[in-house]
Amino acid sequence: KGKAYSCMIRTRVPGGKVTPEQFLAELDLCDQYGDGTVRLTTRQAFQLHGVIKGNLRAAIKGINDSKLTTLAACGDVNRNVMACPAPYKNNAIFDSMQEMSYALAEHLRPKTTSYFDLWITDEDGNKTNEAEFQPVEEPIYGKTYLPRKFKIGIALPEDNCVDIFTQDIGLLAIVEDDAIIGYNFYVGGGMGVTPSNKKTYPALGKPLGFVENDQVLAVAEAVVKVQRDFGNREDRKQARMKYLVDNLGIEKFREKVAEYLGSAITAPRDVEVTGIDDHMGWHEQGDGKLFLGVNIENGRIKDDGDLKIKTGLRKILETYRFNSRITAKQSVIFCDIDPADKEDIEKILSDHGMKRADELSVIRRLSMACPALPMCGLSITESERVLPDLITEFEEELTRLGLQDEQISVNMTGCPNGCARPYVPDIGLVGKAVGKYTLYLGGNSLGTRLSFIYDDLVPMGEITSRLSPLLEYFKEAREAGELFGDFCHRMGKEALQEKAGLAAK
Ligand code: SF4
Repeated sequence: KGKAYSCMIRTRVPGGKVTPEQFLAELDLCDQYGDGTVRLTTRQAFQLHGVIKGNLRAAIKGINDSKLTTLAACGDVNRNVMACPAPYKNNAIFDSMQEMSYALAEHLRPKTTSYFDLWITDEDGNKTNEAEFQPVEEPIYGKTYLPRKFKIGIALPEDNCVDIFTQDIGLLAIVEDDAIIGYNFYVGGGMGVTPSNKKTYPALGKPLGFVENDQVLAVAEAVVKVQRDFGNREDRKQARMKYLVDNLGIEKFREKVAEYLGSAITAPRDVEVTGIDDHMGWHEQGDGKLFLGVNIENGRIKDDGDLKIKTGLRKILETYRFNSRITAKQSVIFCDIDPADKEDIEKILSDHGMKRADELSVIRRLSMACPALPMCGLSITESERVLPDLITEFEEELTRLGLQDEQISVNMTGCPNGCARPYVPDIGLVGKAVGKYTLYLGGNSLGTRLSFIYDDLVPMGEITSRLSPLLEYFKEAREAGELFGDFCHRMGKEALQEKAGLAAK
């Protein structure tokens, strides 16, 4: 009894890999206990929104019954491990990344049994799986867990779709002779900012070193333990590992990790991120089957008027029982598709109002937003609900200028916490006041560079008109093949502001 608190439940899905039964269970649970929608998150997880407190146990048990879990999806532990979701078969590279995401998720999973005590007993309080209730020590987290949340992502140099530099640990696969021989580790990335606290800032991961495959778990554990023992527990705003890495300096941090590991860490291999793939549309899978990436705008699976995403996805999953992958751009990939079924699947999608990838603009495919209002208690202003119309405005402006095929990414959040990684794309929009945003420019869709604040407190209705002179300038002064984010980075804030008639701030 008591107030009808409305809660969010996040399901942990390493590498975004789900069975049809698990996907369908989330669709059932959102109708039974949530607000009738499922959200695919920017970290390849599921979220149910609007779950009334009294329904939490039933919903969480339902998720566990589908062999997924909410354990370590939130909290001051390692959370969902991200990995490139492309489901290529007979391909050692993609298999290795997926396997590594599972291995890391399992290795760094809290061993607590209280989760099961709280959530997995039946209605009479009986334990449904005795083995999971045996008390164990927490070998990595100890009694106090970590100072703050912890995130890991795994990518390939040619496809940084999971934004490894925004993670506490980013793993960049080093490939030789069609196999991953190890990973470059980057440490201390993180997006969250508190505007009132000058000591907080977004950061990209810094190179820790090269780690061979069989040492990845040990090095990740050593990094986690260094953060456990030296991370800031006095000031929660300074508790993310990025501050520890910066305060110690990367060399000292590396020494600490080596000390915990018991061996030196070798220099990172000379490899750079060169691309990104959203994995949308049809692709050969490598075993005669196809996979299909379906763009779900801002990850929200719902039925709304003629756009019946939830019913359409349910029909495909019930008919074909496809395995799926959730992408880091909040969309879904259906795997193992018989080429003979391609036409029928396209018809199901179009019957339910969903567009093919080639019918969507690049900017819409590369855009993402956090939930913000009315779902998130920390939100200052709108994000998910306003981005689709804003993208329509951008599309019109880009088309007017003949720039409609440009690779431009837009990430929007309803507050500076940065859940949709707004400090790295070409255009970042961060809620600062009701209906007003800080406008960031100069990042890129590869996620390799932090952007700068171009303008502040921009009213929602003026975002497109403030960008318009810059797009014109880009058209007129870009170098051959230069992308919008790279152009803004090259020109710099002052030159852009001057061109747009803004006084330098
Ligand atoms: Fe909520 Fe802010 Fe995260 Fe958006 S960025 S989901 S508003 S905490």
